[in-house]
Formats: sequence, C-alpha cells, structure tokens
Amino acid sequence: MNFLEEKILLDGVIKEGNILKVDSFLNHQIDIDIMRQIAYEFQRRFRGIKISKILTIEASGIAIATLLGNLYDVPVVFAKKSETANSTDDKYVSHAYSFTHKKMNNVFISKPYMHATDKVLIVDDFLADGQAMHALIDLVHQAGGEVAGVGIAVEKGQQQGGRILRGEGYRVESIAIIDSMDWQTQTIRFRQQPERKLENAQLKAL
Ligand code: 5GP
Repeated sequence: MNFLEEKILLDGVIKEGNILKVDSFLNHQIDIDIMRQIAYEFQRRFRGIKISKILTIEASGIAIATLLGNLYDVPVVFAKKSETANSTDDKYVSHAYSFTHKKMNNVFISKPYMHATDKVLIVDDFLADGQAMHALIDLVHQAGGEVAGVGIAVEKGQQQGGRILRGEGYRVESIAIIDSMDWQTQTIRFRQQPERKLENAQLKAL
C-alpha cells in the first residue's frame, strides 16, 4: 500500500452517495507532508516529460499544484469556476458538471495565462466522471497548448473518468485508485499498483 492509500484508510470518511471525505488532509486542512509526497510521486511518474506549466482547478487542486510547481520551477495556473460566463473575449471558457455540488460550472482561464507554446501537466485532487479534467483539457486545447499528462491524487475507479481519459490517449497517473468503497462498513478496496519507493535524495528533502 502506498502513502496516500494508507492516509485515506487512516483519515478518510466514506459518505453515502460514493463520496470520500478527506477534509483532514486535502480538502479543508492541508497536510503539507502528504502534499509534498504527492508532488514527488508525480515528478517521479512523469520523469522525462517536458512541461512548461502546471494547471489545476480551484480550490482543492491548488495545494498539490503549488508544491509540484515548486519542484518543476514552472508557473502554476488554476482555472476559476463561475456560475455565469461574462465576456469571453479575454478568457478561454469551458463547462463542467460538479459531481460533489450537483451543478454546472463555467470554468475559465484568462488568455494571458495559457499559450500555444505551453506543454501542460494537469493535476487535481479527485477524478470521478472526468468532467473537471475534460474542461481543463479543453481550455489547454483552446489556447493551442499541449497536454503532457494528467496527475490525480485519488481516482475513483468505479466511475468512468479514468477509463475515458486513458481511452482518449492521455497519460493518467493516479496515486490511489479506489475500486470500491462502502459507506456502511467504511471499507475501501484499492486497485493494485506497482510498489514504488521514494529515492534517498527525495526522502532527505522531505
Ligand atoms: P469529476 O469532474 O471527475 O466527475 O469529479 C472530480 C471533481 O469532483 C474533483 O475536482 C473533486 O473536487 C470532486 N470530487 C469528485 N468525487 C469526489 C469525492 O469522492 N470526494 C471529494 N472530496 N471530491 C470529489
């Protein structure tokens, strides 16, 4: 079991409706040590891939994206959400249905922050049906940029987002993949992933 799976078993709470609450370390209080380990794990998994920018969506992806941006030393952009689309002249705008809030959001990036020359690593806290991720990919493509990869902390493998994105040819790396979870017994089954250890130099820096 990897560090994130262990943390989820320790501190995650399963809610009715297929929702995993991880407020104590990711969605409300932020555990910096876990964020650092997530960032190192993404850097390790995407080693050798050139990126010029990290993209996420407000709010919970920002902590992960910031620590990763620090490792890569590249700018971090977070797409903003709004219920209304005002002028679209100066923005790239896409749309995503929110699984947790059960409503449609406009998702946008101001044009100066995404370019045709950008190679973008997109990260987020959760992947469920892939709505948020598809909106982010759409924004990169509207700017003419390239999606270099998709990094997810927690993928809910029983929902379709991961399968669809991989089928579309995106490289999706999820640190924890949940195959099933049961709110009544508070049990989670993770998808088996190859065991990987952080290298000594990385551990020293933690
Ligand atoms: P998707 O767009 O892939 O359907 O859902 C991903 C988004 O919904 C993520 O940005 C995340 O904020 C939220 N989300 C989806 N499922 C969960 C969940 O089980 N727990 C939490 N905390 N957020 C979730």
